[in-house]
This record gives sequence, C-alpha cells and structure tokens, in this order.
Amino acid sequence: MAMITNVIVKDADNKGQGVFALRDFAKGEFIFRRRHGRVVANRDISLLSEEDQRHLCELDWDTCAVLLPPGCYLNHSCDPNAIRRGVNVYTWKDIRQGEEITINYRLNAFTGERFDCFCGSANCQGYVINSFFAMSEEQQRLCLPYAPKFIREDYHRRNRSSPSQGKNRIVQPLLSHNQQTQL
Ligand SMILES: [Zn+2]
Repeated sequence: MAMITNVIVKDADNKGQGVFALRDFAKGEFIFRRRHGRVVANRDISLLSEEDQRHLCELDWDTCAVLLPPGCYLNHSCDPNAIRRGVNVYTWKDIRQGEEITINYRLNAFTGERFDCFCGSANCQGYVINSFFAMSEEQQRLCLPYAPKFIREDYHRRNRSSPSQGKNRIVQPLLSHNQQTQL
C-alpha cells in the first residue's frame, strides 16, 4: 500500500486531532485515499470500541466502515476545503501547506443526529444536523454528485415524490472547479 506522505495528523485545538496539508494543493486535486477498516452492521456499532465508534463512515442504510488513519481524523467543516468521493479525498478549494483539511460529513449521513461543530466557519451555526437532507436544496444539489449511491437514490426518490420540487431540475454530473461555492 502506498504511503500517504502529503498530509499529517496533528492536534486541531478543540476539535481533537485533524489532518493537515504538508504541501500546497490546487483546487480539484487528489489528496489521499481514505482507508476503510472493518465493515460493521449498524446494529453492531455498540460492540465497537469507543475510538472506533468515533470514526465511522456510512456505506449504506445498514452498514458502515471503521475508518483508519489518517482519514479517520478528517474533521467536518460547514465551509470545507475538501470533498470526498467514495474513499478518495479531493480539494474543493486551493489548500495551503499547513492548513487543516476538512470535509462535509453530511454527504453520506442520514441519521439527523445533531453534533456540536467547532469548525469556526463564518456560516457555522455551532451545530450540525447530520443528514444530507438537512442541507439546503442548493447545497444538496451541489453535493449530490459526490454523495454515495444510496443517498443519491434517496434524493431522486424524494424529488420524484414531491411534485413541487425537482421537476426540470438539471443536476450537473460534476462541479465546475472554477465555482467558488460553500458546501
Ligand atoms: Zn461548523
């Protein structure tokens, strides 16, 4: 397995550990691959260690993967500078050496649990409702191409079933990287 040498895990103040860039990255660049450890059924999550329970990624409605370092230390931001598609992490904006790399946890989330957010972004409300569908319509549309299949399918199901929304809407297959957009 290739060594991940362009990021480092270190203290991120009140957020615990975080992942930091060891060099500059251009917008749209591949950063690293987030490795999955064991896959567990949601009903078995309580059997995991506390540490593993903190580092889970939803794979579908019923299962999740325990994330391995360094990817498990990626923190959420309400104005992230990176985005995950599957296990690959790409930059969403230019990232400077030394900057913390953050993603949007809501891309694959559906529980709607509320967690306190310390991201410090201008648009941060201090908490996050952890569900793709708790984002604004605009955010959902922008994030959709990066969301996992089970979320994308649900998105289309929801939009089909509500006649006032989603009709005639064009979902772009990929985001333009020239777009400066907040997720
Ligand atoms: Zn926040």
